[in-house]
Amino acid sequence: MTKFKRIGVLTSGGDAPGMNDAVRAVVRAAIANGVEVMGIYRGYSGLIDGDIHQLDVHSVCNVINRGGTILYSDRCPAFMTEEGRLEAVETCRRFGIDGIIAIGGDGTFRGATALTALGVPCIGLPGTIDNDITSTDSTIGYDTAMNTVVELVDKLRDTCESHARCNVVEVMGRGACDIALNTGIATGATAIVISEIPFSEEELFEKMKRSRKLGKRNFIIIVSEAMGKEYGPALTKRIEAATGIETRFARLAHIVRGGNPTLADRVMATEMGVFAVDELLRGNSNLVICSRRGKVVATEIRYALALDDLYKGFKTREDLQAEFSEWEIERMEIEVEARHIYVKNLYNIAETVNI
Ligand code: ADP
Repeated sequence: MTKFKRIGVLTSGGDAPGMNDAVRAVVRAAIANGVEVMGIYRGYSGLIDGDIHQLDVHSVCNVINRGGTILYSDRCPAFMTEEGRLEAVETCRRFGIDGIIAIGGDGTFRGATALTALGVPCIGLPGTIDNDITSTDSTIGYDTAMNTVVELVDKLRDTCESHARCNVVEVMGRGACDIALNTGIATGATAIVISEIPFSEEELFEKMKRSRKLGKRNFIIIVSEAMGKEYGPALTKRIEAATGIETRFARLAHIVRGGNPTLADRVMATEMGVFAVDELLRGNSNLVICSRRGKVVATEIRYALALDDLYKGFKTREDLQAEFSEWEIERMEIEVEARHIYVKNLYNIAETVNI
């Protein structure tokens, strides 16, 4: 069926719960197809250094429920250089690695594209809690991270209720507001502060004072990390000064990157892992595996990265014209618009329901 004898799998960039499920699926699916699998440790760093060990079906026993990544992760500046990437290609030759499945975020996909161009076919799996890959509805780790936020904020709510306090909670999500938006709804946050939608602090203060008069004791304010490090602590002080309500600040930070993956992340990571092996062994590469409306599909990495750049405002349609057809750009614009509507709609729902 295939010219592949041996493939590699790595995890790179920020870790995410469910990465192990993806690694496990890749290992088992490849071996089921008669292909050997090499575990590349510490992302692209291990690919340059040759930190590589063969994985068999038993190497991935008992990892289905474990957060983090058994292959470890790293940021690898050396891989950003041509020299570093050529060393990585040499390592692949040395270890007989014919193709790679790289699990990570957009940086990892850029690396995968660069490696494919040098003759090592790669496929990417979206592993990041932030859900900041526009071409997929969901990334591996996102569901788990949101559930962890909800669990932690529920605990804060208990103590806020006892003491009639407000808690400002900063949640991760530099490239996307999805965690803040969804957990804001799920925890009944009085306000959700994200960089995508203008926010009036004055209106929040008035709302809190009104609600307090009517007897509301606890207040949760969810702030996205994208607002900047200073914003949450400063807002906390301003709320207390303007409303007289005792207000505390909590930064959940990396605690939501750990923990056992949820069912949704386990199943999606497994489906994606099997799909990626199938695509690679069929001779396809430079793809990122996505989940769209519950279906696992493949998207070209170049398209996925350009779509992200357009959504995040890093590039305009004019910037993309040299590389993409008018039809492709229009499709991207429709997807960008759909995401803007999704964000606005969820935000409006929160405004209506969370009083
Ligand atoms: P993530 O994959 O979570 O976005 P990073 O942006 O840190 O995380 O990227 C992970 C690694 O991918 C980097 O440390 C680097 O080794 C590699 N990488 C990122 N961007 C590029 C690029 N433009 N070319 C080659 N490799 C890249």
